[in-house]
Amino acid sequence: MWFGTEVREIHWQEREGVRLLTPRGEILARAAILTVSTGVLATRLRFTPALPAAVEAAIAALPMGLLSKIALQVRSAERFGFGAGTFVLSPRPHRGSPFMSFLFWPKGRDHVIGFFGAETAWALASAPAREVSAFARARLGAMLGSAALAHFAEEGVVTRWGTDPAFLGAYAYARPGQAEARRLLAEPWGEGRLLFAGEACHVGLAGTVAGAFESGRRAARAVLAQLRGSLG
Ligand SMILES: Cc1cc2nc3c(=O)[nH]c(=O)nc-3n(C[C@H](O)[C@H](O)[C@H](O)COP(=O)(O)OP(=O)(O)OC[C@H]3O[C@@H](n4cnc5c(N)ncnc54)[C@H](O)[C@@H]3O)c2cc1C
Repeated sequence: MWFGTEVREIHWQEREGVRLLTPRGEILARAAILTVSTGVLATRLRFTPALPAAVEAAIAALPMGLLSKIALQVRSAERFGFGAGTFVLSPRPHRGSPFMSFLFWPKGRDHVIGFFGAETAWALASAPAREVSAFARARLGAMLGSAALAHFAEEGVVTRWGTDPAFLGAYAYARPGQAEARRLLAEPWGEGRLLFAGEACHVGLAGTVAGAFESGRRAARAVLAQLRGSLG
């Protein structure tokens, strides 16, 4: 069993089943369940032969959205009247400015976690931590008063899911009118050799760990049934 190994190419119509190419060598399998994000499916995996047009269309219908986080430490005992775990949507400086929300003192810890998504998150996806911190601090300052900023670290810890080649986003969203793509992507392909699973493939629980887990379990059951059937 290989962990931490990047699959780069998938030959999914081999006589034996599926051949996966990795920098460590090849893996031959009767079937493969792919649980990578649709961002990875769309840009980083090579399929031989090319995927059926319906699968490619389903992947394109489920692009990755982005929700990013920044953790900013507070360097004093000041808690600004917020109890542990308080979640606040920060007021926007003007109509049209991006939304940002804050989780104060998660589990009683000494930091706030700021959430920002969509266009703002993509625009800041490659920005240095200092620039993202300045954006978050400005919002904190608008909410708590600029004097409060002296209590917070200048620079926070920023998530990088948008640019991390293992994810390329936070979770998949369905383009308007294309939610059925989730169901289609979850079907077995290549006579059951190739299955897709993960949060993007769950109709009711998309975007959650529970959806990812359930869709993986469903794909595993389908492969088991197929293998038992072919063993006769
Ligand atoms: C800010 C934020 C908050 C969230 N909050 C919640 C929450 O409160 N509750 C909740 O249920 N969900 C939450 N989610 C969503 C949840 O994290 C995802 O829905 C879930 O992790 C998706 O799981 P997955 O297995 O489908 O995909 P992933 O977690 O993306 O797993 C895919 C795996 O594939 C691996 N991989 C990628 N490329 C390759 C390759 N080429 N070869 C081999 N392996 C590869 C990756 O390393 C990764 O391990 C949140 C997400 C974000 C971003």
